[in-house]
Amino acid sequence: MAMSLAALAGFVVGALAILFYRNQIETRSRVDTTDAVETGAALPQGVASVLAVLPSSAVVLDAHDKVLRASSAARAFGLVKGDRLMAAELLALARQVRRDGEIRESEIDVAGHKFGQETTNFAVRVAPLGSHGQVLVLAEDQTERVRVEAVRRDFVANVSHELKTPVGALSLLAETIQDAADDPEAVTRFAGRMQHEAARLTYLVQDLITLSRIQGAEPIPTPGQVSIDEAIHDAIDHCNTKAVAKDITLVSGGTEGLRIWGDDELLLTALRNLIDNAVAYSPEHTRVVVSVRPAGDSVEISVSDQGIGIPEESLERIFERFFRVDAARSRATGGTGLGLAIVKHVAAAHAGEVSVWSKEGSGSTFTLRLPAFGGTAVPVPPSIPLETAL
Ligand code: ADP
Repeated sequence: MAMSLAALAGFVVGALAILFYRNQIETRSRVDTTDAVETGAALPQGVASVLAVLPSSAVVLDAHDKVLRASSAARAFGLVKGDRLMAAELLALARQVRRDGEIRESEIDVAGHKFGQETTNFAVRVAPLGSHGQVLVLAEDQTERVRVEAVRRDFVANVSHELKTPVGALSLLAETIQDAADDPEAVTRFAGRMQHEAARLTYLVQDLITLSRIQGAEPIPTPGQVSIDEAIHDAIDHCNTKAVAKDITLVSGGTEGLRIWGDDELLLTALRNLIDNAVAYSPEHTRVVVSVRPAGDSVEISVSDQGIGIPEESLERIFERFFRVDAARSRATGGTGLGLAIVKHVAAAHAGEVSVWSKEGSGSTFTLRLPAFGGTAVPVPPSIPLETAL
């Protein structure tokens, strides 16, 4: 990106220099041309047309720092107001360039000029334009690139940290087993813990692969009709063992026969994650209900539990990668901290959304809203359990 900006800016500056050079020759050969250029009040011929096709914000200053030309983007970003360049840092750069004729590059932050607007980060390139003290300023908004880069760095740091824990534990356990070679009981105990850590590592790697697969598949490359009944049936089947261990009843209900337009594997993954969580964060002898209903052009699938709930202040963060309300509890239940991030990306890949309602101590309801595939729906009262897994 920075490279392409530099290349583009280099090209533009080069093009403008050629235009200016040609213009100088024309000026010399035609006496009547551009007294504006002579006084420094107008742009060299052709420069305006080049600036007009530029994707970046472009500003041309005259020898007295007055704005001769500014693209609408430069005005929209608040870099220019009237005939003044607003960013002091940029103005200082332009003056330096005018003084020594050197092209300069820099990064600057410009505070939002409208109330509530965030700071914009620009990659700027400033170059002299001809011999009348005019200066060209090109500014590329790179706020989004900087934000994405920061998120990526955070993610890599988090992944390294999450991987280090089980890998460190495995290496320690292996050493311990070596030392306890003549104590079969200890060997069995530590081998069991090694299996546990290895499983944790496997879940983490699987979730990372799923997440990266989904992120690369937005929107879904080959969508098709997906039966919601089948996805719910398979997801419940998958979570059954854990539910049985806690005597949690898994129930499904709502409208039968609904279909969505999407990817069956992804829908199954999302439902499995939601039901897994509902079971993991609920006490024994409770119920988890999965229900389906049509909602306009969409279908709503909700997973409700009678579990510990989520504190209000954490509600808007739970879909972030590696965010856990209680890290120790998540670890104890074998959580990777990626389950809900995967659900959010599955919803986004389907052009749908996921929302949450929760009350601490009462339970939570996660609702997936996905685009429906036109089909015949057979309404079934939600109170009738279609499937009870015990
Ligand atoms: P984890 O692997 O830790 O479960 P998730 O991304 O699936 O990661 O969930 C993030 C966090 O949201 C969990 O650590 C937990 O604190 C909270 N959470 C998710 N689902 C539920 C639920 N049904 N009830 C209570 N808390 C939940």
